[in-house]
Amino acid sequence: MTLSRFPLEPTEQERAVVQQAVETYVQSFLTQLPSLPAFVDSPEKGAGLLESPIEENPIDIEEALALLKTEVDTPGITAASGGHLGYIPGGGLYYSGLGDYLAAVANKYAGIFFAAPGAVRMENLLLRWMASLIDFPADAAGNLTSGGSIASLIALATARDAQKITSRVIPDAVVYTTAHAHHCLDKALRIAGLGECPVRHIPMDAQYRMRPKELEKAITQDKAAGLTPWLIIASAGTTDVGAIDPLPAIGQIAKAFNLWYHVDAAYGGFFALAPSGKPKLEGIASADSVVMDPHKGLFIPYGLGAVLIKNRQQTAQTHHYLANYMQDALSATDEASPADLSPELSKHFRGLRLWLPLKLHGVGAFRGALEEKLGLAQYAYQQLQQTPGFEVPVVPELSVVIFRYVPPPPEEANTFNQKLIKAVQQDGRVFLSSTLLDGNFMLRLAILSFRTHQPTIDLALEILKEKAAALEQAG
Ligand SMILES: *Cc1c(COP(=O)(O)O)cnc(C)c1O
Repeated sequence: MTLSRFPLEPTEQERAVVQQAVETYVQSFLTQLPSLPAFVDSPEKGAGLLESPIEENPIDIEEALALLKTEVDTPGITAASGGHLGYIPGGGLYYSGLGDYLAAVANKYAGIFFAAPGAVRMENLLLRWMASLIDFPADAAGNLTSGGSIASLIALATARDAQKITSRVIPDAVVYTTAHAHHCLDKALRIAGLGECPVRHIPMDAQYRMRPKELEKAITQDKAAGLTPWLIIASAGTTDVGAIDPLPAIGQIAKAFNLWYHVDAAYGGFFALAPSGKPKLEGIASADSVVMDPHKGLFIPYGLGAVLIKNRQQTAQTHHYLANYMQDALSATDEASPADLSPELSKHFRGLRLWLPLKLHGVGAFRGALEEKLGLAQYAYQQLQQTPGFEVPVVPELSVVIFRYVPPPPEEANTFNQKLIKAVQQDGRVFLSSTLLDGNFMLRLAILSFRTHQPTIDLALEILKEKAAALEQAG
């Protein structure tokens, strides 16, 4: 084999050897995936990696892949598995992996239009497509981020400046949301210097949606008390139960009081593609900013969120920066540069990991998969409701089903459900996570992997029944 004179530039032959080994690994992973556990609670938790420190001399690809398999890909949640029904899964489309590969090899600099006009056009094209899904104007600002948390930070920093929330008014500048808003929004407020803003948790209805009347009341009271209401955060798909706040009514209140209206659709946003999801998101277009995560609702591997902000000028005012050493990059263009709309300068060319699967599968395939997930959630809800012992307090609005097992007295329900989730996780064939609802320990089925189909749900239900029965006997 021809060896390279420059160790960092493998020859064609050397590349082929490594490529072949990687491809073999990937194919075997995908072939085995249906029978792999969805969760592996290994005692070592990848610690074997530490026995192979970063050293002066190289190792070969086989050794590297062996480490990857045992220490990285095996322990923990198998996020690529259709059996991943915890938190908010997504799966990770194969063609996205190829998109990342192509993006990394060509290494286009997607931060600035001047450097990679095609790459920036591609990202902006994707963002305009997302804007069209939620009936946002085509000239809305948009940015592909690493995830929903950074997307939320961009939105809230823009909101802060647009509403002129400076240090002097922060202690009186009131934020309105519900107790079910995602914690990344609290985190974004804190990072954006807004940690001292009073945050009002507006009461929710029986389906865990914000009550607009209570929102209006709180704003009116705060104004009367001389405070400065400035931001409303609504959820289009809460993580806990998948609830969608009444978006049109909240939008009207935001407009009447001239507050910034942010909608967190990180989980729920892409259900706009599904025929039965679209009407549920009515009113989202009245938001000033929206976050939606392709690494959830579009099944892209982790590392892809998006923010859309109606007012491009305000977004740029918060994020645009001029530096002397960037002067070559300044040219008038109708395509905004990502660097002007986000905290990042050098960035991953994230667009390709979304563009490639969208082009190769076509949008219809995504629409169908999302519709399927909504149907599976209704199916799981009905099945659980009909199973003695299980309590399902919320009709799923999207694809999260929240439930618990109510054991006969004197067994305490919270303790029992903690044991139940542990038993399911130890079994490992499917992975479920838990949450607290009004102090009750609850289990969740979050159905959003493109690899989750009805047999997976049947298996999950089977395991739940089996474990609950075993625990009840033992108890
Ligand atoms: C996942 C999620 C987030 C956070 O997004 P990341 O991509 O994990 O950073 C925010 N809000 C909701 C509703 C989510 O489901």
